[in-house]
Amino acid sequence: MSYTTHVSGFPRVGAKRELKFTVEKYWKGELTEQDVLAMAADIRKKNRALQKAAGIDLVPVGDFSLYDHVLDTQVLLGAIPARFGFDVKNLSMKQYFELARGNKTQPALEMTKWFDTNYHYLVPEWQKDTTFQAVSANLIAQIKEAQTEGFDVKPTLVGPLSLLWLGKAKGEVFDRLDLLPKLLPAYQQLLRDLVAAGITWVQIDEPILAVDLPAKWINAFAPTYRELSDTTAKIIIGTYFGSVAEHAELLKNLPVHGVHIDCVRAPEQLPIFAQTLPENKILSAGVIDGRNVWRANLRLIHDALKPVADKLGNRLWIASSCSLLHAPQDLGVEEKLSAEIKEWLAFGVQKLEEIGTLKNALAHGLDSVAAAIAASDKAAKNRAESPLTHRAEVAARLAALPANADQRKSVFATRIAAQQAHLKLPLLPTTTIGSFPQTTEIRQARAAFKKGDLSAADYEAAMKKEIAHVVEVQEKLGIDVPVHGEAERNDMVEYFGEQLDGYTFTQFGWVQSYGSRCVKPPIIFGDVVRPNAMTVAWSSYAQSLTKRPMKGMLTGPVTMLQWSFVRNDISRADVCEQIALALNDEVLDLEKAGITVIQIDEPAIREGLPLKRADWDAYLAWAGRCFRLSSAGVQDSTQIHTHMCYSEFNDILPAIAAMDADVITIETSRSDMELLDAFVQFKYPNDIGPGVYDIHSPRVPDEAEFVHLIEKALKVIPKERLWINPDCGLKTRAWPETLAALELMVKVTRQFRAKLA
Ligand code: GLN
Ligand code: ZN
Repeated sequence: MSYTTHVSGFPRVGAKRELKFTVEKYWKGELTEQDVLAMAADIRKKNRALQKAAGIDLVPVGDFSLYDHVLDTQVLLGAIPARFGFDVKNLSMKQYFELARGNKTQPALEMTKWFDTNYHYLVPEWQKDTTFQAVSANLIAQIKEAQTEGFDVKPTLVGPLSLLWLGKAKGEVFDRLDLLPKLLPAYQQLLRDLVAAGITWVQIDEPILAVDLPAKWINAFAPTYRELSDTTAKIIIGTYFGSVAEHAELLKNLPVHGVHIDCVRAPEQLPIFAQTLPENKILSAGVIDGRNVWRANLRLIHDALKPVADKLGNRLWIASSCSLLHAPQDLGVEEKLSAEIKEWLAFGVQKLEEIGTLKNALAHGLDSVAAAIAASDKAAKNRAESPLTHRAEVAARLAALPANADQRKSVFATRIAAQQAHLKLPLLPTTTIGSFPQTTEIRQARAAFKKGDLSAADYEAAMKKEIAHVVEVQEKLGIDVPVHGEAERNDMVEYFGEQLDGYTFTQFGWVQSYGSRCVKPPIIFGDVVRPNAMTVAWSSYAQSLTKRPMKGMLTGPVTMLQWSFVRNDISRADVCEQIALALNDEVLDLEKAGITVIQIDEPAIREGLPLKRADWDAYLAWAGRCFRLSSAGVQDSTQIHTHMCYSEFNDILPAIAAMDADVITIETSRSDMELLDAFVQFKYPNDIGPGVYDIHSPRVPDEAEFVHLIEKALKVIPKERLWINPDCGLKTRAWPETLAALELMVKVTRQFRAKLA
């Protein structure tokens, strides 16, 4: 028996981010289009070789992209926004990047998160008169490139319904599903072009099947795939990121040749699909985790697949759960990870090998791959038994938590009275979100210290000098609740992760976030413990320089979780609770040191929302509890702030209120305080600082804009509850515009204060 192996996609920036550097140099005019194409071809070639070496039978084509594969799909279907005035059939590389990054006259396509990943795709702009045509040449060229090397190729495409769903209707109001009849002929043509290029299997991804879909969209699947089944191309529908069991009957009966399911996120759907799979269909089981960094337990996966393999024979395919785009490329290049932890990990290359091993194990028995299975067994055992993963004191502390461990001592009304008596802040207090401009000197000092070129004493002196400067600036400006400026932090998660037990870091574990931008999430491998205070010395020093209440600054538990690779041997909720307790230690130490305003940032709280609404409440309950756990135990007079930004918060306002922070500062200025409309329905109970200016642009708003936004806020928020602040941290800004904007912010606030008094 032979089981076909494949993946939906492989990381495409190169093991050391070669594509990123090449493309960025091209943007600066330092490299040519030919250089970019050569690098792209080189990466694709290497990726194919890696897949071949691991025993992958069908290599994907269409997973590679110079910027974003959803943008590529728009080009492939001739559907780029007309506002650019480009001829899609003859799109130049320069124009392609202008779609992604904007040009002098046109803003870029909007960008948003790809489902619940940290990958951002470029959002298609649908207009009532959008037209479609197959523009296949580029894809066909990549197919030929692989075929010439003797590969069996499987193009991977974003499917028509997902593509429409993921786009946004612009201009005249209409339903984007109405574009389907115009879109399908372009897909049909594309499939004919693929068949002409010698293609048999085509993977068409419809990841929207894992989210809540209106009936009308679900009903569109059968007719859509009936229309697409008129070529000899064999279509596999790709699904991932969640269960599609509710659509099992639909998927089994579509006139296609197979379906791919995510057996990591939703292992329970494997038997559901296997049991009654029609004779003429294949089932691709996504058993290797494309979203995380952990080594698979090959024996367990083998045992789960065995009955399915026995039943389906070679109609069982073995795959990663989703594209490996979301995992780092190669563990092999890591030199600094501890050997103990490295044994527990698998990145893209290793995941390919796991798929290859499973194929052989199922075809020829576990004994045929005895060494690989033994290594996997050993890693699983070592990880489970390691004192790094399970620390008795953490378990004991969690078990001993009283039921009300996440509750403040008193209700908000009592607390805020105590805080007012203690802090004596004016009406409409002013503050900032935490960071101040990160100048080249700051970054150089941090880098030199990390490298060992700057002594600890010199580094401390450099940071203190910066803190003193930031405090002095805020004194002069008259900011009521100043901050220390976060000069010592390169990244709001990494800074804390580095000081917590249970976290580790890679050198090259980059994952594409958008375009040429990559992130290197830390890895949470074990129980989280805070061995030492993390921020107390910096905050205390800052407090020593001013009589105003210095705001301490922490990254919240949910954001720490959300922006890391998280261990998969206990639940995310449990990991989050551990982080919350470690942060709570810090909160209490700050309070002891005289810091009585403490901000716990949670910008990522919304990103953690499950794909299906039915699962939202459970998530919001534990996320809220973890935030409260991190902030509990302080005196009533200690004021807890939180901060959130750049997401849609309107539909989770009750959950945000339930976090029970005394003050929330929240981004709103970009949308002209659209968020505030939601407050008309839902009265946010505690203090709130809707951002009054957008820090993501160097532009300094004029006085009238500040007045407009503050007036707007005062209409829905009682003046006693309103704070005045920018909408996010200032680290990406330069000093001149920062000073100018804050000066105006304080000036306008004082005018309002005088009027309201
Ligand atoms: N305190 C952080 C800062 O000011 C908050 C960053 C964020 O919201 N992402 O930089
Ligand atoms: Zn922010």
